[in-house]
Amino acid sequence: MVTEKLQSVVCIIGAGPAGSSTSIFLSKLGIKHIIIDAASFPRNKVCGDGLDMKSIRMLNQIDPNIFQNEILKDPSFTPCNGVRLIHPSGKNRDYVIDKTKVKAHYHPFYVSKRMDFDHFLVKKIDKTFANLLLETKAKTIEKTTDGWKIIAENKNVEFEITCKLLVGADGDHSILLRHLGERKINRKHYAGSVRQYFKDVEGTHSENLLEFYFPPKYPFSYFWIFPLPNGEVNVGYIMVSKYASENNHNIRKIFTELITTDPILQHRFANATPVGEVEGWGLPLASLERKAYGDGWLLVGDAASVISPTSGEGIGNAMFSGYVAAEFIAKAIRQDSFEENVFINYQRELYRQFQEEIDRYNKYIDKKPAVSNWLINTLIMDNFIIQKLYKRSMQKWMETAYEKRIKVTLD
Ligand SMILES: Cc1cc2nc3c(=O)[nH]c(=O)nc-3n(C[C@H](O)[C@H](O)[C@H](O)COP(=O)(O)OP(=O)(O)OC[C@H]3O[C@@H](n4cnc5c(N)ncnc54)[C@H](O)[C@@H]3O)c2cc1C
Repeated sequence: MVTEKLQSVVCIIGAGPAGSSTSIFLSKLGIKHIIIDAASFPRNKVCGDGLDMKSIRMLNQIDPNIFQNEILKDPSFTPCNGVRLIHPSGKNRDYVIDKTKVKAHYHPFYVSKRMDFDHFLVKKIDKTFANLLLETKAKTIEKTTDGWKIIAENKNVEFEITCKLLVGADGDHSILLRHLGERKINRKHYAGSVRQYFKDVEGTHSENLLEFYFPPKYPFSYFWIFPLPNGEVNVGYIMVSKYASENNHNIRKIFTELITTDPILQHRFANATPVGEVEGWGLPLASLERKAYGDGWLLVGDAASVISPTSGEGIGNAMFSGYVAAEFIAKAIRQDSFEENVFINYQRELYRQFQEEIDRYNKYIDKKPAVSNWLINTLIMDNFIIQKLYKRSMQKWMETAYEKRIKVTLD
């Protein structure tokens, strides 16, 4: 096999939402870099495919006209106008945005298969600044006196890449994370999840609501149904790993049990057809703060463990970490130093965004299962004031997502 030597100040491993966003924002700052991914795009990724308001905010940060000019015209994106919480009694709590109070092109959520969404982002990588190598897997990484040596391979070529700064954007099983000896799973801050596509699930809402059900039998977990085009839906189930292992719960089995026997769900799946297999993957939650910087390295996305612990959403957080990382990389280049102390505030800026959710999760996760169940299925779902506040907040969050730019404080 031929060996090709490549050199760059910055190299990113992984071109999922975290890696492609890092690349997109680096290019906006005029910084040349290499970005590699083992996959060829479009590629599958096990996910709920839900784009929350953080994702919307980051997409707006990439281009304030992206929704009007691209996303709303692209059939692979399903605009969703709210949320449905499925009450254990079978009655739904529907939160639909008041369209008279927001601009016509505002939708609080979207659903887009990762096959399409990640490809959409990869196509935004600017080749003027980025040397994008797809189907190229990082095999080994090694710290050198002045940076890193990465050996990566595609079908025909072995690449020897040298760089000063390595960005680990390669997900939960990150090679950089493993090299650092930091891929440790703390089950209290980790979740297991499965998803499957279906056709013809009954009872979905005409405003494409994202649906959530908290099965009373299984606390610290939820089941979702997210709408896709052509009568398809993304259906999935997530459970905190600590609770699953303590109770010997098999997430796949519970997923099937809920669809086939749960009195609230089974009738909706009576005439549904699965599209593809049940697929599973893990979620490293932001409630376990992981050190995301060091001498010559940064972690972004799942590698940095930044998934929202309260919702399981990680796409927007991954994109956000890429944006913050790019700002700190620009600072390092200006100072011509890639030492740890240059990145100290990266951690602060990253977690500042997640703190509220982390605090809420930490208060919730130590509750007794029965109490957690009561909190969600009785207090939240039955309380008129909480429902009103949520609806109002949704409207406000949406305005922030579409109208406010994120500022990063470097010092
Ligand atoms: C079942 C499930 C449902 C979820 N639902 C949602 C949801 O609805 N909404 C939401 O916001 N989040 C959701 N998440 C979380 C979300 O999927 C992740 O947080 C998100 O994918 C993180 O993006 P990333 O770029 O960090 O990592 P990834 O998307 O995992 O991308 C990592 C990339 O690195 C590449 N790579 C890996 N190793 C190497 C290597 N050695 N060399 C080169 N390339 C490599 C991979 O090919 C991949 O393209 C869900 C997760 C799961 C498991």
